[in-house]
Amino acid sequence: MKITEVRLGMLRVPLKTPFKTALRTVDTVEDIVVSIHTDTGHVGYGEAAATAVITGDTHGSIIEAIDKVIAPRLIGEEVVDLNRIVRRIQGAMERNTSAKAAVEIAIYDLWAQLYGAPLYRMLGGGEPVVSTDITISVDHIDKMVADSMSAVDRGFETLKIKIGKDIGLDIERVKAIHAAVEGRALLRLDANQGWTPKQAVYAMRTLEDAGVQLELLEQPVHARDIAGLKYVTDRVHTPVMADESVFGPAEVIDLIKKRAADIINIKLMKTGGISNAIRIADIASVYGVECMIGCMIETSISVAAAVHLAIAKSDVITKVDLDGPSLCAFDPVDGGVIFNESEISVGEAPGLGIRAIRGYQPLVR
Ligand code: MG
Repeated sequence: MKITEVRLGMLRVPLKTPFKTALRTVDTVEDIVVSIHTDTGHVGYGEAAATAVITGDTHGSIIEAIDKVIAPRLIGEEVVDLNRIVRRIQGAMERNTSAKAAVEIAIYDLWAQLYGAPLYRMLGGGEPVVSTDITISVDHIDKMVADSMSAVDRGFETLKIKIGKDIGLDIERVKAIHAAVEGRALLRLDANQGWTPKQAVYAMRTLEDAGVQLELLEQPVHARDIAGLKYVTDRVHTPVMADESVFGPAEVIDLIKKRAADIINIKLMKTGGISNAIRIADIASVYGVECMIGCMIETSISVAAAVHLAIAKSDVITKVDLDGPSLCAFDPVDGGVIFNESEISVGEAPGLGIRAIRGYQPLVR
């Protein structure tokens, strides 16, 4: 199975409701789709989200990175040489993690197809069902409470609440949601860098003293403020998770050694794909640190890859935040991973099992 061509396309899918965090508001998924073609007729699919405020990647930079820099290094490569291909992708250029992720996902899809097995089996196997939380966007308190109640009614047992806009209001938001869903859902908070270290400690102590039980607090402070992250981790009982602060394996080692966070959020768009995500999971496992697997605003192409990884590494990836597909108004993918609200299950189709993608416009250059 030899790589013959790398094609790009644009996939647009409206969201059911706008996705609002302390950093941004999004109402439509607009992701780059990569299809890698081979001389055997097999096609591998990948997807890149353009999350400029987190990874620095834009549609233009992703297209240029893949088309001009990464793809030319892959033509003629044999899919059986997975490690060699991964090195060629990762060594093609600095950063550009979302572009690398999309290409790696398509390569891993092909590699598993080569052996006729679902990707999670090729990564070591596991129970092919995971349960995801759902994001509650930051908004007026009444709207957040209503969204939370509706998510619980839809069967979600864990809610990821977006906060980080205004410290006083944030505390009231969380208290109101906690009171509304008490006992029926686990609550995760994601401040998306919106607080100072001292604000974060104040907010968490206020919530903890009020008896509000939280599963974790994600990225309370600015991404680069590792000392600030550690300041919070040292002072609150609620486990603190690093998201925007850590991208690759080296940063994870540094963070764990500093004890700056209790949990690591792995996202393929930050790691540059599956190979580094595996490394991070293995590093965390060595240190006895748990991981979450998350996603950007992604559809069921790249999220499928994250699901396969989560299944294979479920001993260390104990928390799943893969609600991208359930935020979409429709599933553009006819494929092997079934997204049914909180329950995500994987079938026996080889690779990622993607048969067709709807609404995908080829980028002709
Ligand atoms: Mg986050």
